[in-house]
Amino acid sequence: MGVSHDLLSLMQKRIPGQLVIQFTDHCNARCPQCGMRVTEAFPRTKLSVDRIKRILDRASETGIKIVSFTGGEPLLFLDELVVLIKYAGSAGIEYIRTGTNGFLFTQPERPGFRSRVNRIAEMLADTPLRNLWISIDSAIPSVHEKMRGFPGVIAGIEEAVPIFHGHGIYPSANLGINRNIGGAGSVSDGCRPADEDYLPLFMKDMKAAFRSFYRFAINMGFTIINTCYPMSIHGLNGNASLKPIYAANSTDYIVHYSSGEKAMLFRALMETVPEFRSKSRIFSPRCSLDSLYRQYAQGTMSDYPCRGGIDCFFIDSKDGNAYPCGFRGKENLGDFCELDREKLNREPFCHHCDWECFRDPSEMFGPILHARRNPFGLLKNIANRGSYFKIWMEDLRYYLACDFFDGRKPPAYDRLSAWQGS
Ligand code: SF4
Ligand code: SF4
Repeated sequence: MGVSHDLLSLMQKRIPGQLVIQFTDHCNARCPQCGMRVTEAFPRTKLSVDRIKRILDRASETGIKIVSFTGGEPLLFLDELVVLIKYAGSAGIEYIRTGTNGFLFTQPERPGFRSRVNRIAEMLADTPLRNLWISIDSAIPSVHEKMRGFPGVIAGIEEAVPIFHGHGIYPSANLGINRNIGGAGSVSDGCRPADEDYLPLFMKDMKAAFRSFYRFAINMGFTIINTCYPMSIHGLNGNASLKPIYAANSTDYIVHYSSGEKAMLFRALMETVPEFRSKSRIFSPRCSLDSLYRQYAQGTMSDYPCRGGIDCFFIDSKDGNAYPCGFRGKENLGDFCELDREKLNREPFCHHCDWECFRDPSEMFGPILHARRNPFGLLKNIANRGSYFKIWMEDLRYYLACDFFDGRKPPAYDRLSAWQGS
């Protein structure tokens, strides 16, 4: 880890820069929570390898340390993806991530399944890829498989995970929060959202769902578990300044939550995470969940707004241009290679969506930047909001125990054991 460079970034009032590159919007899955599902008719796009290489060169020059290749489904173009990951590593990008919907792991009973997965794992292991996400939507296999449109994929992922481990890749289960996490049926069924006891019951449901999901992912062999916060176009449209260009959202009820429900689900996740921190590497920072809970429950905005458009950027596969994120599509920043990040060095302000890719690091690094900018202000904040800073310190200690979620290392269970029952 380039600690000295990262410290330098922080001294310059920046967090380690992050670029989410939408390599393609082609996809072969049927997820109801996403506008890129195979059943949506729109002209599909993919960025050329040369275009992305230029972006990676510029990214490295301007202090970007983290690059995520997203989709659509990036592994539809595995050979090119491997070239790009290697290129990003040689350009000096330290944290390289990508993910898959798991389509390559369907039908594990097919002849040659294991050798095919071995070949994929070998190809990726030969790159500097740091994290590989595999999407899982529900603790109930049939529910996940129906949502994705991939029958039998859970058994295939279960077989694939140890193969990846054998090649030194520790994939992360990636849960996109939706109403099917725990399967059908819940204690709030039959209760109307307007009922007085609806929200407490909804929170109870969400806690049960998160617990069963964590258990399920751990039993499948995952040693890192990430949670993506719900993205519904309803919520985004509530803010007129937003125009989603990253179509990983939908109007479907499955990802549409009221503000009250959001408050409860963030609280439920925040209360569930500690139970599993010693059993797997749980990515979701509780300080971020605490801020989101307060935002939706009390209308109090985090002291550490999102750094989208300052340190974090999204590259759209349709035009190859940079945007502050996948949801501020009205702010086309043009060719990333021509972008002068210094001119963008303005104060963070945005709380308009819950996109964890940018909000979680903004929250985690926020107090460090605050200390650099205004140490007395930070001390005042700590005095006023001691419980938040206690959670933040715990998160930081936990991130250290997890080697900042290095997906090329097995978990250090001896260090994680300190979080038993925390
Ligand atoms: S969520 Fe991912 S896998 Fe599902 S349709 Fe969207 S891009 Fe494809
Ligand atoms: S909170 Fe971050 S990701 Fe969401 S709209 Fe604002 S800048 Fe974009």
